[in-house]
This record gives sequence, structure tokens and C-alpha cells, in this order.
Amino acid sequence: MGDFKGLTPSAAGRYVDKVVAWRREIHRRPELSQHEERTAALVAEVLSGLGLEVRRGVGGHGVVGLLRGKTGGRTVALRADMDALPLKEETGLPYASEVEGVMHACGHDTHTAMLLGVACALADSREALNGNVKFLFQPAEELNPTGGAPGMIAEGALEDPHVDALFALHVWPRYETGTVALKPGPQMGASDRLFLTVHGRSAHGSAPDQGVDAIMIASQVVCGLQSIVSRSISPLDSAVVTVGTIRGGWRYNVIPDCVEMEGTVRTLREETQALMPELITRTASGIAASLGGSCDVKYVKGYPPMVNDPAMFELASEAVRGAMGPESLVVVEQPELGAEDFAFFARERPAVMGWLGCRPKGARPEDTAVLHNTRFCPDEGCFPFGVSFLASCALGFLNRAEL
Ligand SMILES: [Zn+2]
Ligand SMILES: [Zn+2]
Repeated sequence: MGDFKGLTPSAAGRYVDKVVAWRREIHRRPELSQHEERTAALVAEVLSGLGLEVRRGVGGHGVVGLLRGKTGGRTVALRADMDALPLKEETGLPYASEVEGVMHACGHDTHTAMLLGVACALADSREALNGNVKFLFQPAEELNPTGGAPGMIAEGALEDPHVDALFALHVWPRYETGTVALKPGPQMGASDRLFLTVHGRSAHGSAPDQGVDAIMIASQVVCGLQSIVSRSISPLDSAVVTVGTIRGGWRYNVIPDCVEMEGTVRTLREETQALMPELITRTASGIAASLGGSCDVKYVKGYPPMVNDPAMFELASEAVRGAMGPESLVVVEQPELGAEDFAFFARERPAVMGWLGCRPKGARPEDTAVLHNTRFCPDEGCFPFGVSFLASCALGFLNRAEL
């Protein structure tokens, strides 16, 4: 391991009992986006107890903890998210959600608890810290298209002291416990919302010539939108247009005058994201007009693409190899079009998000519940690796003068 000065998973093991206890407490009392009051209070209490400078109510229920090291050093930020989802938990765990219809199904309970563990570990070695570490606990990650990150940025979370780089993790059940998956460059997609309203003219179902059929227009609009991806976006780029809801009509023999649809648009590059509103509006209103109707398009821009900084990717890879051994590092080839509001932070500063393997050793991927599933249950055995990863990235950054 040479000159490695990070935190190994076995050294992180000292803090794991606490991490497990915090995680289970948070899991039992999940809070929806923008309602993370209890969780934020727990976080603030732990950070204050460690002697950190704590700011509460940053961009909603956000909490910022500052651990000051040697003066004159740089500042690295580590981020966790705190919110849960409107799902009814079906894991049957002894510490399952006690709040009806709310569940930590995206693992944000584990992110918050692990980051508290990192705060403990780094506070214990604060004398040796070559700079400052800022801990960002953000609300409302699941609140697309707004997200919780922009509010924290607007309220100064990345300033005073100025943050130079950021690291975060997300539990990822595709990968086995004991691994961290990293990807250079684009890692996750931009996610925008689409609202379409088709207007026609009502008529009797037996006399379509007397009206303008909003359902037929809507059908052609749905198909036409797919031609944007196949004909207007480079085949070497990526985009998805999905119409997820369609509502129209009220009786089998009446031609309806209105159909409402909602969808999501995913892209991997900000340049492509920027093209989509115009392409969608042109296609949908053009098809509707050609059939004698009209289509209103409301396009709401959401999270930007999540792009990892190349130098931070190298640093994080070294942290994983140094702390856990080379076999723990998974280098990811393909990005995903899921979205993550850490992208807002990553647009402001060089950043990396690691995917922390949380599939129990030996379990088959097809038997493991995915994120946002009511049976999602990450392996707590991943906690020492998560604490080790974030702590080692922070230490690696602060100890590398040239970055
Ligand atoms: Zn999620
Ligand atoms: Zn998540």
C-alpha cells in the first residue's frame, strides 16, 4: 500500500456499530423530501457532539458540519442525502419503517449514517488533517425536478470556507458488498419532466369528420416523439423520451376533445438536454396541427447529467485500491440514465460519486431488490467500505498538494 494514508475498512470497523444504530433509527422513522426534520436534528446533534461547527436549515432541512484541520489547507466536502420515498415497506425487517407509506427505499438512511461514521473517524484524527472537511447532509434528493442540492448551494454550502472538491456515494445493489464502482466522465443522466395537453374537438364516435380526435392525435404524438431519439439525436449519443401517463376520453362512442400526457426525458450531455424542449415542442405541435388540433407542451428542466471529474476519478480509484485493495475497485464502462441531484454539486466543483456495492456476498443479482423497490434491503456489511471510501477520498484529496 506504499504511502497510503487513508482509512481501511477494518479501521473504519470501529465506527460501524454506531453507523448501524443510526441507520436503523433513521430507517424506522423515514421522512419524505422537505420533511427531514427529525433526521436533520439527529445529524446536527451527532456533529455538534464531535465538536464540529454546525449550520442547520441550509436550503430547507440541510445540515452543514465543518471540521477544521490545519489552517491554510483546502476544504473537501462529503455529501449524503436524507430523504425517503412514498412507498409502503415490505422488507419485514425488525427495524422496518414505522411510518405508514414512507420508506427508505433508496438507501439514503445508509448514506446519512455512513457519513456520520466518517465524521467520527475524521474528527478522531483532526490533529493530522491537512485542511478542512465539510459534511453536507442534504434534503429532498428525490424531489425531481427541483432537488435539494440547489437550495443548499444557493445558501452558501460550498462557501466559507470555499469547497475545492466533493465526494459522495450511493449504495448500489448491482455490485457486491466489498466493492466500489467508479466511472470517469458521464455517470448518470439528466432528468426532465414533460407535460403534454392535446386539444381537439368533440364529436360522436360514429362521425369523426365532425370533430378532431384528440386520442388519435395523442397516439401519433407518442410515436412521433420516439422519432426524435432515432432521427434527431446522434446514434452515438443517448436520449430517452418516455410517455408514462395518458389520460383522455370518457365514453366508448365519443371522440374526446382533450388528452393529457406526462413523461420523462433523459439525456447524458447538457448540450443534448438543451435541444430537447425545442425538438419535442416542434414535433408534438406539428403533428397536432397537421391533424387539425393543437398540443400544449410544458417542459420542466430537472437534474443535469451527473459527470465525474477525471482527476477526482483517479484520486477516488487510488483511495479504493489503497484502502481496500485493487480487487475492490470496479471501473464502470456504461453510464445509466437514472438521475441524481449530486449532479448540481458536481457542476459547481470537481466531484465524484461512487457506487457502493451492497448486494450480500453470494446473493444473485436477480434475487436482490433494486433501488426504489418496497423490498430494497442493502447489506449492512457494506458500511465499513462506505466509511473507508469517503474518508480515504477526503484524506487523499487533502494530502495531495498538486490537485
Ligand atoms: Zn432514489
Ligand atoms: Zn438515491
